[in-house]
Amino acid sequence: MKYVSTRGEAPTLGFNDTLLAGLASDGGLYVPESWPQIGHGDANVPFAQRAAQIMAPFVAGEIPQATLVSLCKDAYSTFRDPLVAPLREVGENRWLLELFHGPTLAFKDVALQFIGRVFDHVLQEQGRRITVVGATSGDTGSAAIDGVKACRNVEMVILYPKGRISEVQRRQMTTVDAPNVHAVAVEGTFDDCQDLVKAMFNDATFRERHQLSAVNSINWARVMAQVVYYFTAIEQLHAVDSAPVSFSVPTGNFGNVLSGWIARRLGANVGHLIVGSNSNDILTRFFETQTMTSTSVVPTLSPSMDIQVSSNFERLLFEMNSRDGLATARQISGFRSSGKLVVTPEQFGTWIRPTFRGQRCSDGDTLAMIANVHATHGLLVDPHTAVGLVATQSCAEPDEPVVTLATAHPAKFADAVERATGVRPTLPEHLGDLMSRTERITDLPNDLAAVQRFVASVSATR
Ligand SMILES: *Cc1c(COP(=O)(O)O)cnc(C)c1O
Repeated sequence: MKYVSTRGEAPTLGFNDTLLAGLASDGGLYVPESWPQIGHGDANVPFAQRAAQIMAPFVAGEIPQATLVSLCKDAYSTFRDPLVAPLREVGENRWLLELFHGPTLAFKDVALQFIGRVFDHVLQEQGRRITVVGATSGDTGSAAIDGVKACRNVEMVILYPKGRISEVQRRQMTTVDAPNVHAVAVEGTFDDCQDLVKAMFNDATFRERHQLSAVNSINWARVMAQVVYYFTAIEQLHAVDSAPVSFSVPTGNFGNVLSGWIARRLGANVGHLIVGSNSNDILTRFFETQTMTSTSVVPTLSPSMDIQVSSNFERLLFEMNSRDGLATARQISGFRSSGKLVVTPEQFGTWIRPTFRGQRCSDGDTLAMIANVHATHGLLVDPHTAVGLVATQSCAEPDEPVVTLATAHPAKFADAVERATGVRPTLPEHLGDLMSRTERITDLPNDLAAVQRFVASVSATR
């Protein structure tokens, strides 16, 4: 399998180099040169083995199957639930897919526990060391840190927007006792952090000197690893040959829902993809108006979705442009300069309308949904999951089977959950002493030169 850039000018790479590169050298995102067809499998196959089966075509020729199986087994042994991603029924034709049983309590663990292990495997084989630089709106950082904390060949710098993430999220990053991990509080928003990371990658000299790499959701391997649970959810529901199963996905960067689109493209029995947004509703507005316009970020109760530029949308845009990288590059650069991206009615009618639904959700709706689920099912859900449930409620037909992705453990956003229900969710046992552990933080201004100086001082090649 080879990978091409969505902007058409970066070299075609194999899986290992795509993994290590993160962003393509032309600023685009890597996608497989073609989409294989993957059949549904047996619901009794353990998650780790199913993951290795589903990901096999994407690493073919680079990682032997036995190695892939053992990397997956190792990665998913860190999950507290033996099913890894169990389903929970919440009404007729409605389920939650619990993706928060990993070490840092958010769905990003599913991809990042795997990625940390694949990185170390590939780097060890190539005799290389790299510096992973990433931006986080909260959950990516802790999940990435947990994924790579034991890697011998990786230094990691994670930028997060100071004061804009929850205390649990921050502490999960700043209390990890691993000398290769550096958490940086930036005076700015998540998009500022992401722009700093992108600028470092676009500086070819800097990127080469420090062997920069990324694990945020622009990395193909993350999108790939997330495809797995769309397949396994349908298999667990024994819905392989029955009515297609729709998925409702609380969305920020469009990474998770893109994985659902890919699962559908690969042959999974996926129906609609329902995109849930909080007040940062660039995607909902796009679905309504066929135009993407960026505005400023508003802080909400679901901070991991406080994003105004959904980077992974570029991968879908590339498909909408019939895989014309130069056309995609022109559109993205127009969006960067004018803040506006328009697709044609034909593109919208072919790619968006038949598949995607979208719904925005205020903080008030989020709290009401958390309270409602608690009253009806005696269940605590986190605010991101609640956004997904609101979107399900307004976009799905009663007889349409819908799986809403439960993307975080309620204890990760305990304040909002307590506000809605009066009940404070408790952290799982392994995180019981989190609030009393010592924190290690570097504070930096929203300034590229300052951030580059810091990265240089800790880089894997220093
Ligand atoms: C990251 C995150 C999201 C958004 O996922 P994207 O892939 O950015 O769309 C939703 N919920 C939680 C809890 C997250 O951590």
